[in-house]
Amino acid sequence: MSAVWHPFTQHGLGEPIPLVSHAEGAAIFTVDGRRIVDAISSWWVTTHGHRHPRIVAAMREQAERLDQIIFAGWTHEPAEELARGLRAIMPDALTRVFYSDSGSTAVEVALKMALGYWQARGEARHRILVLEHGYHGDTIGAMSVGQRGVFNRAYAPLLFDVATIPFPAGGREQATLDALARACADPHAAAFIVEPLVLGAGGMLMYPPAVLAAMRAICADAGLLFISDEVMTGWGRTGTLLAGEQAGIVPDILCLSKGLTGGAVPLAVTMASEAVWDAHFDADRARMFFHSSSYTANPLACAAAVANLAIWREEPVRERIATLAARQAVRVAALADHPRVTGVRTLGTIAALEIGGGGDGYLAALGPRLLAFFRERDLLLRPLGNTVYVMPPYCIGEDDLDRIYAAIFEACDAL
Ligand SMILES: *Cc1c(COP(=O)(O)O)cnc(C)c1O
Repeated sequence: MSAVWHPFTQHGLGEPIPLVSHAEGAAIFTVDGRRIVDAISSWWVTTHGHRHPRIVAAMREQAERLDQIIFAGWTHEPAEELARGLRAIMPDALTRVFYSDSGSTAVEVALKMALGYWQARGEARHRILVLEHGYHGDTIGAMSVGQRGVFNRAYAPLLFDVATIPFPAGGREQATLDALARACADPHAAAFIVEPLVLGAGGMLMYPPAVLAAMRAICADAGLLFISDEVMTGWGRTGTLLAGEQAGIVPDILCLSKGLTGGAVPLAVTMASEAVWDAHFDADRARMFFHSSSYTANPLACAAAVANLAIWREEPVRERIATLAARQAVRVAALADHPRVTGVRTLGTIAALEIGGGGDGYLAALGPRLLAFFRERDLLLRPLGNTVYVMPPYCIGEDDLDRIYAAIFEACDAL
């Protein structure tokens, strides 16, 4: 009997929990000899594939030199090199790099930076604007700016109030923009946090770049800070390095994690504009940015991220993403004709659809049956309710893609 308490797992259902021994590329291997296709990049983190040789080598070399060092008032070469690399590849206006260790923490840091910015300017702005169906992590602050529901009902009394802007569903984009403009007029409004182009945990809900650009412009006009949570969308997921690129937007604050190390080890950054930095820059210690975690900028993690940047510079990553996107588009298009399939959509390396029509949300009865169905076929797919999505590592081969889509087709018929 294992003592391990797993995340987002109802142990009372007695579902099998496979014991994994190793992984390679787009495949995961279990101790009992099964080869599982990782169709969701180990929960959206693995970009180039498991155990990319350059990332493994970078961590190994770093481990020989420096494992961990306090980052308040100290620094090290992997952190400096990574910050230089991020400055070179990310939008110019994001001049500052703050390290942390998960997507949730990157969001907490972004929210704290936004409030610090307004406090320094002597304005009582503390209200955060959020998008309906958003997801930004599972810590209290991150849950507060995310969709309320069964995930956080028990904690609702602790979550702070936000202003929720309706999701820009097809045909209702103007209502979203109008609601945002109204919310921006609130004298307490501080910042708007969004997942650009695709709301991941909310059900792979997609909206067009023009809406993102319009939302960014409304915030700029109102002088509000715009926080782009690219924890999932960053590092090529949507076809471009950042999803924001497709809308030509640059946020005031950018959250990155998941693919930052290629998905090998935990690391996050919150990048900020010079204005946000300036608000905290002072000779007065009371105005410094009060945030840290013990493992801030862990050297092994930074070395992995430096290797990820080198892969982006020196390997044909964009071509791999384009190839994967094209291969997925063909396969989902074939599924679109199935009478039980609705809502087929793709964006870059992400493909999503609903089986059996509209949903009871995350706890839809079909979800666990789909999960088991795919597990029995040696596929790591983890539907969100009756929303099935595929988000593989960029190195996945055609045979593995065929297996994934054949199983989805089969599931449509069988369940
Ligand atoms: C996964 C995710 C997070 C949280 O990241 P963790 O590393 O799991 O804490 C935040 N925002 C978005 C958009 C995510 O997809």
